[in-house]
Amino acid sequence: MTTNKQIHLVSRPSGEPTTGNFKLVEAPVPTLQDGQVLVRNHFLSLDPYMRGRMNDAKSYAQPQPLNEVMGGGTVGEVVESRNPAFKVGDKVVGMGGWQQYHVVSAEQRGALRVVDTTHIPLSAYLGAVGMPGVTAWYGLVKIIEPKAGQTVVVSAASGAVGTAVGQLAKVRGARAVGIAGGPDKCAYVVNELGFDACIDYKQHKDAKSLSAALKEACPDGVDGYFENVGGMVLDAVMLRANAFSRIALCGMISGYNGEPIPMAAPQLLLTNRMRLEGFIVSEHMEVWPEALKELGTLVATGKLKYRESVAQGIEAAPEAFLGLLKGRNFGKQLVKLI
Ligand code: NDP
Repeated sequence: MTTNKQIHLVSRPSGEPTTGNFKLVEAPVPTLQDGQVLVRNHFLSLDPYMRGRMNDAKSYAQPQPLNEVMGGGTVGEVVESRNPAFKVGDKVVGMGGWQQYHVVSAEQRGALRVVDTTHIPLSAYLGAVGMPGVTAWYGLVKIIEPKAGQTVVVSAASGAVGTAVGQLAKVRGARAVGIAGGPDKCAYVVNELGFDACIDYKQHKDAKSLSAALKEACPDGVDGYFENVGGMVLDAVMLRANAFSRIALCGMISGYNGEPIPMAAPQLLLTNRMRLEGFIVSEHMEVWPEALKELGTLVATGKLKYRESVAQGIEAAPEAFLGLLKGRNFGKQLVKLI
């Protein structure tokens, strides 16, 4: 019998999470029933939304139950199948959680999707050609709706979502300006991804200073802002917003540990006749096929680049997750499980 190493959530954090909130558990790999499929997970996706699920609070998603396997997206390979829709060797995307193996039953329709790895690496289905890529696509295409020549700004620009936002904006003929933490991340965004500019927000002590840097990077103002962090960065971009500009409110990671996220000048929404729209990508399943088609084509043809930070082994998942919340990742944060 093979052992299935898992990470459970065993306590809820108040403020910053710690590795003590998690526990490594060894369980047997279950014997399959009719209709079931056993998947060996190759990569686990670590995502900022998991921090929200660690709280027992009202949100768009149910809290992560205590003493159960942490939920999360995975890619892997079918290693045993008692379901005619899947065969051994199929590469699949699913919600396998923080563990080495997972079982999917026939009644869990749509829980497993077979993917083609001929031109797209398996891990990319958790990043550029997966949930983060579709998130970028939805916020940019459906909310910001950039026109050629307009300026789009994105925060957390070197991350899984941000890298795709700027490159998709460039494909549409827009000017793409990133905001990221540190000179290496900014250099990558401009030199390797082709953004027009990137500002290191850590070099600026307040919104006024960051806004002055944005003025230089966005000489025609900001027409669309893809918001991933909140706080001082949002305030700075608001000061440069054009009339009728749009904000796709995707994330506010600066407040995920419970810090307040005040907005300094909401009146600018009115005076600039702006549109600000929050969204949750899983509530827009209707766009996934169209978005994945564009993202897959761009990745397969080398026109959409991405970067991965890969932690090794399921034991490394908690530490890598804490790092993601502090910006220690550089690109899509994954855990390699094989
Ligand atoms: P990233 O790969 O961008 O990693 C998170 C990044 O956030 C870090 O690398 C860090 O980058 C930045 N960050 C962390 N703390 C702070 C802080 N206090 N202030 C400013 N920046 C900070 O993650 P994703 O691309 O997966 O996610 C990006 C955002 O998109 C998140 O807010 C996430 O919650 C949101 N999201 C929303 C979805 C939706 O449906 N609405 C779906 C998926 C993601 P740096 O070093 O540059 O500061």
